[in-house]
Amino acid sequence: MGIFDKFKEVKRKVSEVESNLYNEKRDYLEIYERNLELEKEIKERTKELNDANKRMFTLQHIWDMMNSSTPLENVLEAIVNSTQGELGYMHCVIIRKCEDEDGTFLRILAQSKDNLIERLNNIIGAPSIQTRRLNYDDTSIFADAFKQKTIIQTRSLDLSLKAVMPELTQDTVAKVLSNQPVKSVIVIPLYTREKEFGWFCVFSSREELASAETDFLGLFAKQIEMAITIADLFQAVREEAVTDALTGLYNRRYFEESLNKEVARAKRLMQPFSVIGIDLDYLKKINDTFGHAYGDMAIKTIAEILKSNARSIDVPARIGGEEFDILLPGVASDGALAAAERIRKSIENKEIETIGHITGSLGVATFFEHTDNIEELLELTDQAMYQSKRNGRNRVTLAKPITETSWQEIAINTFLDILSKNRVPLARKLSKELCLKLETTAHQGENKQESLYMVADMLSKLYNPMHEAGVVKNKVLTAVSLAKRFDLSKDDIDNLRVAILLYDIGNLMISPGLLQKATPLTDEEKDKIKNHPVIAAQEILKPISYVQDILPIIEHHHENWDGSGYPNKISKDEIPLTSQIILIIDEYFALIEPRPYRAKMSSRDALEVIKSDAGKKWNHTLVNEFISLIEHDIV
Ligand code: GH3
Ligand code: MG
Repeated sequence: MGIFDKFKEVKRKVSEVESNLYNEKRDYLEIYERNLELEKEIKERTKELNDANKRMFTLQHIWDMMNSSTPLENVLEAIVNSTQGELGYMHCVIIRKCEDEDGTFLRILAQSKDNLIERLNNIIGAPSIQTRRLNYDDTSIFADAFKQKTIIQTRSLDLSLKAVMPELTQDTVAKVLSNQPVKSVIVIPLYTREKEFGWFCVFSSREELASAETDFLGLFAKQIEMAITIADLFQAVREEAVTDALTGLYNRRYFEESLNKEVARAKRLMQPFSVIGIDLDYLKKINDTFGHAYGDMAIKTIAEILKSNARSIDVPARIGGEEFDILLPGVASDGALAAAERIRKSIENKEIETIGHITGSLGVATFFEHTDNIEELLELTDQAMYQSKRNGRNRVTLAKPITETSWQEIAINTFLDILSKNRVPLARKLSKELCLKLETTAHQGENKQESLYMVADMLSKLYNPMHEAGVVKNKVLTAVSLAKRFDLSKDDIDNLRVAILLYDIGNLMISPGLLQKATPLTDEEKDKIKNHPVIAAQEILKPISYVQDILPIIEHHHENWDGSGYPNKISKDEIPLTSQIILIIDEYFALIEPRPYRAKMSSRDALEVIKSDAGKKWNHTLVNEFISLIEHDIV
């Protein structure tokens, strides 16, 4: 080969290598670009998967809640919050379509926690959207969603807003819609058991609606429908249940039904029956020391003891957290006491793992023997049980017949009930001290009146620092003398005595600053103070069955003879005479005491004031009797 040929050969080889190199480079580039594309696709798919995962997780979470006994409102709240938060909507709400005698309207069942609604409420003012009766308009997007049975999206936010709140002015609507991020509202109709239920609405920052979005919103709507249906079913099952889930004992509802049947039977056959009330001692301590699970174990232990002690016709029931009642048909108090004592011993003797020994306090009351009123029977059982607690726990106490209870005992039990059940806010130490005073009195046959007057004086001093010791006693004695001048019966007079001890107890629920204010009160402040008779009667004393006769006396102790008083503005003979007696006594004793806004008056001046209100606050006969009574004391 000549040199030229050799050169050509080299050149060919070089170009071959070059072309190979070039081809490889192109291949590489191609591969590189394909890789980039793949990577992008993987990224997109991963994001989709992540989104799908998020939705699945959310759905799973909601599903779990639905399978537990989480209340419906919490499930719905979880749904709206996760739709808004995790799935990136601006706001989310579940609305119910409701009917009443005034027609169809809408009510918000749940809404996501975000500042959109707060902003809306600030602009529209009271009432808030949550409490407003929202309008149902047959031409609105809501009605359309039902008519078309499908998801609808709207960008006409103003129309949707005005459809539900037609009372808003154009101005307010414009304010609500200005400068906010929502661009469209998506409304999904909800059905339960094929009936129209309401709507699932999401507020989006986008104007369009992707098809995947439609799909998963549909899925969420299905979850909501299912949650509501399941909650309805749970409710139905709960209503049918007769046993308590933790202990397997009968529940309160079944106990009350049995009790009513037993009353009918007892009256028909003239046969007694008894109720034993049991409360676990120191459960709080057990919970705090060993944990709630051990507290539950103590409750279950008592339940087992009650079950094994019960005859087949007895009804042992769990009435509340740690309270149990047993109904013993046909059993008089001696039998019930023996049964209660057996139970007490069994509780005391049982050793529980880790906790050791527990005890219970028991109370026993018997129908006919103690009362023939069912509420009173339960109240007496409860009282006897509390008596066991106060006497040191781990014991049985038999109730006292209601007819043999003197007014002093009624008053003592009422105060003990109010104090031990914290029916009024009181420092623990003071409350304990007063209870102790009343209890020792009840036991040791001390002068019961004096203790009662002392306790009532101490309580009065809390809302009226100018109250002087001894005034309550004077009030009671004066009231009784006045009542006797009107020939009131013994029962009425006894009720009056108890009412005098309690009529202002509602003041303990009113802020002391307000009661002591020396400057003039606003109308609103006056209304608050004027509520004290209602607070006393309807809140504090209402749950105490044996003082029911006293409630109207207390509730009306600020009604005026001419109908200008409060709370009910009743007049003349509509007002109980005992209430009128309290009104005049209260006024007189207030006038002769100093107040932050005036000095104390002499008896004579006070009587002049009382006289000047004759025919207004009280009638002339009452004033005349009262004046003659007081003047008799003055001279
Ligand atoms: P006392 O001897 O005066 O009855 O004291 P106590 O601590 O048992 O009673 P108190 O009424 O002060 O408190 C009752 C406690 O019982 C409060 C509550 O946390 C607890 N409790 C109520 N129901 C349950 C329950 O179902 N399980 C558990 N573990 N504790 C409960
Ligand atoms: Mg207890």
